[in-house]
Amino acid sequence: MGLFDWIKNSGDALRQIEDKMYQQKSDFIEVYQRNIALEKEIALRTEELRKANQTLLTLEHVWDMMNSSRPLSSVLETIVSSLHGEFGYLYSCILQKQLDTQGSFFAFRTYLQNSFSEELDKCIPNNLFETRFIIKEGAELNEVLKNREIMYFDNLRKVLQEILPFELSDEKIDEFKQKNPAKSLIALPIVSKGFTGLLLVFSPREDAKDSELNFLNLFARQIELAITIANLFETVKKQAVTDPLTELFNRRFYEDALSREAVRALRLNQPFSLISLDLDKLKHINDTLGHAAGDAAIKTVARVINKNSRSVDVPSRVGGEEFTIILPGVDSQGALIAAERIRSSLEQEHVEGVGQVTASIGVATFIEMTTDVDELVEIADKAMYFAKQNGRNQVKLAEAQESVSWQDIAIDAFVQILDQHKIPFGKKTANELIKRLQSRQESNNGTFAKELLFDVVDTISKTYTPYYTSGTTKQKIELAYAIAKRFELTKADMDKLKLAMLLYDIGNVMIPSDVLTKTTPLTKEEKEVITKHPILGAQEILKPISHVSSIIPIIEHHHENWDGSGYPDNKKGDDIPLISQIILIVDSFYAMISERPYRKAFTKEEAIIEIQNLAGKKYSEELVREFKNAIKDIYME
Ligand code: GH3
Ligand code: MG
Repeated sequence: MGLFDWIKNSGDALRQIEDKMYQQKSDFIEVYQRNIALEKEIALRTEELRKANQTLLTLEHVWDMMNSSRPLSSVLETIVSSLHGEFGYLYSCILQKQLDTQGSFFAFRTYLQNSFSEELDKCIPNNLFETRFIIKEGAELNEVLKNREIMYFDNLRKVLQEILPFELSDEKIDEFKQKNPAKSLIALPIVSKGFTGLLLVFSPREDAKDSELNFLNLFARQIELAITIANLFETVKKQAVTDPLTELFNRRFYEDALSREAVRALRLNQPFSLISLDLDKLKHINDTLGHAAGDAAIKTVARVINKNSRSVDVPSRVGGEEFTIILPGVDSQGALIAAERIRSSLEQEHVEGVGQVTASIGVATFIEMTTDVDELVEIADKAMYFAKQNGRNQVKLAEAQESVSWQDIAIDAFVQILDQHKIPFGKKTANELIKRLQSRQESNNGTFAKELLFDVVDTISKTYTPYYTSGTTKQKIELAYAIAKRFELTKADMDKLKLAMLLYDIGNVMIPSDVLTKTTPLTKEEKEVITKHPILGAQEILKPISHVSSIIPIIEHHHENWDGSGYPDNKKGDDIPLISQIILIVDSFYAMISERPYRKAFTKEEAIIEIQNLAGKKYSEELVREFKNAIKDIYME
């Protein structure tokens, strides 16, 4: 082979090698490129996984939160703030729909502060936190709650202007937008039992992916669940039967037990006794040694009571320093022995940091002294006060009640009213009601007599009280009684109050029903008709009836106001009988919490605020104070 051939061959070989090398290189490049693509894919998937994980974590976190027994507001705040990290949201909050005397509005249920809320706060005249948001008629945001669906808004300017209760200028909004990268708002409905609201989420992006909206939807459902669970906790707490400080039964349980015991006692014709016990000079212990010492005294009493109770007894703490014990099957002599045992063993205790504490005790016995539960409580309390007045640290037995009770008087009054056709009932209905009333009277059973008296009064009241909600007679008397107790009325006055509570509105029969149910403002003449009804009712209907004449002056003045602005006599201050004042405040409260053709019902809390606002005007300051205490005892322990 010549040189030329050799060079040629070598060149071929080289080319072949080069070709091969090139082939391998492009293979390599392909692999390399494929690797890069794969890596990208992996990175993408990893990111998706991370996001999914984070979503899961957030939801898991929410779930944990919901199952804790923390108060709802704190749970919601933590839940909502966990949104801020997710998807890079700028701000989120829950607005709750609320109602007050001025109508409905939305207010912050969770308020978290960050640079977003601070900037917004700067743009508006009011404090953002206290703003009453009112979604304007026709605003798109209304659709969220109406259709119960998530909505997405990219015109922040419009949304803000549609919910703020004042004009927000374009410049202000521009100023806000400059400082804030918010581009859109996502709104979700939050609807749970007793709760209507919106979850608002401000996003820095102009659009939202489906996955994002799905996540937010899930999130909103979790919030609703959290609210439901919190309500459940609340209900369970309310149904609790023991007092946390002493572990004795609470007032709720005591009251139920008392009615159950009365029914049983009457059925078996067996007595039971009620011990009413109040710590002596607790205020002095609190004032000189501190509240903790007072609490220690209360706990000691509870322990002594518990130690001296049988398993069938019901020892309860019914107020701050008031205790009761129900002793089934025990007559007055037995109860006196039990009470004395409690008194003397308490006297021998040494309370840490206090020393000796004593109590005053009243004892009353069912059937033996009365067959009316309220009366039993009343006379046990009275005996206890008697023990106090007599020097404290002693036991007193209650006295039996005289036989003509206020219920008998009330039943008689209603029988006469029906019999003389003073109420527009057909003859047949009137006779049936009379028969029912009289049968109760004959049953000689105080508890039943009263329940059925209330029942009949409820029926009759419906004819002269157009807005009547059934069952309220009993509640009204309960509240009136709880207030009156705080003024230490005599037994005779207490009875007058109860009787008057049943009859005070009977004069309404004289008002044409179209005036009572009118939804538009009344004319001067119509107002006159309304202001005259208490007198008309009292005089025309009640005067001829025996035993009730003593309550006529009370009924005549149950629309007089403390500052003299009431009717019919513009009486003022202490010139108004105290019982009339009590009727007025009880009547107002129940009127406020029931619905009227021209307005919605107030909640109890709103009604209490309204009444508080009228202290010194419509009602005396003292009456409002005791009213609030009584309400607290009855509704909100
Ligand atoms: P009396 O012998 O006449 O009963 O005098 P008192 O000081 O015990 O009665 P008063 O009704 O004047 O005061 C009751 C006091 O009990 C006032 C209130 O602050 C206190 N009290 C009520 N509940 C509690 C409680 O849970 N703990 C403590 N430490 N004190 C309480
Ligand atoms: Mg006391």
